[in-house]
Amino acid sequence: MSKDTVQDGLVVSMDYKLTVDGEVLDSSDGQGPLQFLAGYDNIVPGLEREMIGMKIGESKDVVVSPADGYGEFDEEGFMDVPRSDFPSDLQIEEGVELSVTDDEGKNQYARIESITDESVRLDFNHPLAGAELHFNVKVVALRDPTKEELDHGHVHEEGHHH
Ligand code: ZN
Repeated sequence: MSKDTVQDGLVVSMDYKLTVDGEVLDSSDGQGPLQFLAGYDNIVPGLEREMIGMKIGESKDVVVSPADGYGEFDEEGFMDVPRSDFPSDLQIEEGVELSVTDDEGKNQYARIESITDESVRLDFNHPLAGAELHFNVKVVALRDPTKEELDHGHVHEEGHHH
């Protein structure tokens, strides 16, 4: 098996820049390449699919539709929660981002959208839901994952284990 192109089961190091509506939202500039284990849903599907087969040193512009990125904006992705359900030490303010545990014990991202005296409206849409993502990516390096990384399905960066 050739290990000089991006493929499932390899750790990919990439330089990247993410632009949405002409604004650079995220980039590896100044923080070094991002590493991810390909084939394990670690990056948005539309980007990963376009990166498969890229060679070390190759760069590419990739446009990812919302459906292949962070999802379409869901008009129903809101929930009103009584204020009394929130821990008393939590600062309740518009725009505050929370991790909410759902009935199945899974953590879900939510953002406080609005507040009334009795309740708090949570927005469960990803901040980039509905956005067309413009990536510029460059493959910097490829390597085999460690056994532990493969078991976990993600990269263990130095000094950072989870
Ligand atoms: Zn891990």
